[in-house]
Amino acid sequence: MAEPFYGYAGAILRVDLTHGEIATEPLSPFFARTWVGGTGFGARILWEEVPAGVAWDDPENRIVLASGVLGGTRVGGSGTFSAVFKGPMTNLAGATQASGFFGAFLRLSGFDAVVIRGAAPEWSYLYIHDGTAELRDARHLLGKDTWETEEAVAQDLGLPAHRVSVYSIGPAGEHRVRFAALVGDRGHVAAHNGVGAVFGAKRLKAVAVARGSRPVPVHDRDRLAEAAERLFQHASTKFAGGTVYKYGTGGLLPGIHATGMLPVKNYTTSVFPEYEKISGQYLRTHFDIHAHPCWACRVAHVKMVRVTEGPYAGYEGEEPEYECLAAWGSQIGNADPGAVVMLSNLTDRLGLDANESSWVAGWLMECREKGLLSPADLDGLDLAWGDVEGVARLLHKIAWREGCGDWLAEGVMRASQRLGGEAPNLGIYTLKGASPRSHDHRGRWYELLDTCLSNTSTIEASFGQPPDLPGAPKLTEPFNPEQVSTVNAVTGGWRQFEDCLGICRFCSTDPLAVVDCVNAVAGWNLTTDDALEIGRRAINQLRAFNFRHGLDPALEAPAPRYASQPVDGPAAPYHFAAHFPQMKRNYWEKMGWDVETGKPLPQTLRRLGLEDVIPALWPERG
Ligand code: SF4
Repeated sequence: MAEPFYGYAGAILRVDLTHGEIATEPLSPFFARTWVGGTGFGARILWEEVPAGVAWDDPENRIVLASGVLGGTRVGGSGTFSAVFKGPMTNLAGATQASGFFGAFLRLSGFDAVVIRGAAPEWSYLYIHDGTAELRDARHLLGKDTWETEEAVAQDLGLPAHRVSVYSIGPAGEHRVRFAALVGDRGHVAAHNGVGAVFGAKRLKAVAVARGSRPVPVHDRDRLAEAAERLFQHASTKFAGGTVYKYGTGGLLPGIHATGMLPVKNYTTSVFPEYEKISGQYLRTHFDIHAHPCWACRVAHVKMVRVTEGPYAGYEGEEPEYECLAAWGSQIGNADPGAVVMLSNLTDRLGLDANESSWVAGWLMECREKGLLSPADLDGLDLAWGDVEGVARLLHKIAWREGCGDWLAEGVMRASQRLGGEAPNLGIYTLKGASPRSHDHRGRWYELLDTCLSNTSTIEASFGQPPDLPGAPKLTEPFNPEQVSTVNAVTGGWRQFEDCLGICRFCSTDPLAVVDCVNAVAGWNLTTDDALEIGRRAINQLRAFNFRHGLDPALEAPAPRYASQPVDGPAAPYHFAAHFPQMKRNYWEKMGWDVETGKPLPQTLRRLGLEDVIPALWPERG
């Protein structure tokens, strides 16, 4: 009898929306071993199937939704999946993750990934179950927000909420807002590069997957149990000193403020005296909280919340993550935590990326303050700092592209260029259009550099702190240009390896235990060095895709405000922009990329097994 295909469901679901066709193709063990899953699968499929000239809203664009080798196992947080596509913020590749249950249910239903092409003649949703799938009419779901859609789809299917995972777009995706997100499992968001707009362009309202009953074959269950337990112990006690386990990602906010990394009023200051009121510590000790964990997760940092004080008392929703606390707190000058809860949930329900939404809102507030805009330009919205109700109305306008919402739906870079004058100098963005996460990256150079140079449209090499890899250099001087760019390059592949696994980053904090889990599931013998090479392969594949789709390396740079010198706070002595060219060059060199053009060198591509990419990047050497 043939040995099981350890670590994989063994099939990819193919969906052609234009022709209403659904097919299953076998997953080859070679493809699985080379790309592992998640972002790796997506990077390669995009390269093979989306040629130059295909725009983000072209039916020939693909959306790859992929779990990975750990998806649906007992490893905590293994309901995570990657969405990989060409997106509208950068007109380049996007790779963005969401946790919850989707990735696990997909694998239990018999698929490692779904590849979606075409555009449906009428609004549809995809329902995956028991090794097959079907397209269903979604016209009755139009205009519904993401939570309403989730409920309506589960009701349509006659399934209780815990038996089906639904990821959908809200009005923002339907109206192709450039920063529309994909939202599911009540509050989980694949946020970056406008994946929701790509769904909208395909007239695909949602993807639902029922919890199947086909377990993923695991090579060594005892070894997996031991490694998964080690992983949990590390994530719950050692990662950030146990803060995330105890207070959620919002528990990190006081430390982020103390180091000058909290975005305050669109980077006009780095000091927010009321920071404690928008922290996880405050929410967990003042509001009603109950657990809402993802698949197999004992870290369980995701909670539901009921506001118990202030003007929004009684409001119920998902507890905001750090990024939303910063986005709808300090970035817009709001210190009411109840208002943060309301705006965070509104953003999710409308299907918007909270990062970009708050960069737009904070930028407008600064423009208003400086007299670059009047309420008449904003359909009567005042938008003074802290104007929570004004922001709520603004978000609705953007999601429906109504009035001023139409041009603001293009994101802060394009909106500020439309306004002209001083306005583009006030926005927080990268010149290629990627949205930074909700930090003041002038206090976290490691992530600022990464956001500018990444090929995923969001962070690629960084995340909180660099991974604790055996033998890798440590980040001991966070404002040392040489050290920051070197650490990013040397450890960079690790984060993309993680995004190939189908696992949540808050659960995968111990690299050695992660690799042990992978080996136990798949029967492999990977080292952390092998893992780094797999991650680098995904990075280089995405970069090759981006060059083929017109990447201008000169635009891999921060907008003036994004890289400016802080006027106050702990990072005030440091000026990123002054060092950026040197850091970029060092990073490219250490990544094995040409220091003049940024293209991966032929020898780098050969080392990673990407020989077939060389002729496209280096036609003269092909
Ligand atoms: S750590 Fe949080 S986001 Fe990650 S899987 Fe667990 S509950 Fe979900």
